[in-house]
Amino acid sequence: MEEKSIFEMILNKEIDSEIIYEDDEIFAIHDINPVAPIHVLIIPKKKIKTINDLTQDDAVLIGKLVLTAKNIAKSLRIDESGYRLLWNTNKDAMQTVFHIHLHLIGGTMLKEI
Ligand code: 5GP
Repeated sequence: MEEKSIFEMILNKEIDSEIIYEDDEIFAIHDINPVAPIHVLIIPKKKIKTINDLTQDDAVLIGKLVLTAKNIAKSLRIDESGYRLLWNTNKDAMQTVFHIHLHLIGGTMLKEI
């Protein structure tokens, strides 16, 4: 059987991490190594390795991940000040966990990209 991702281990409570949001398909945690005062990872329970592996069947799921990020941004009160959503894919983007996750980053003025 394929090795579990760190995020699957967190979901299965094999690794400790506070789950700040959970529904049938999605969960969210604070990043262990935050790059800003707010750095949340929004993660599908279904393991999809990279954005390259998405199919048409995942379209609704991806929409739900973005809507969840929007709701978490509001609940953390950074919706008006602003935030960044990003996906890293493969080595040039320095993806380190091969189970897709949406980064929600904010709580400070971010550097221009
Ligand atoms: P990537 O570089 O793949 O886009 O992002 C993976 C993220 O997962 C990194 O920002 C990293 O800090 C975070 N991360 C890795 N291991 C853990 C962990 O065990 N717990 C939490 N909360 N975050 C993790």
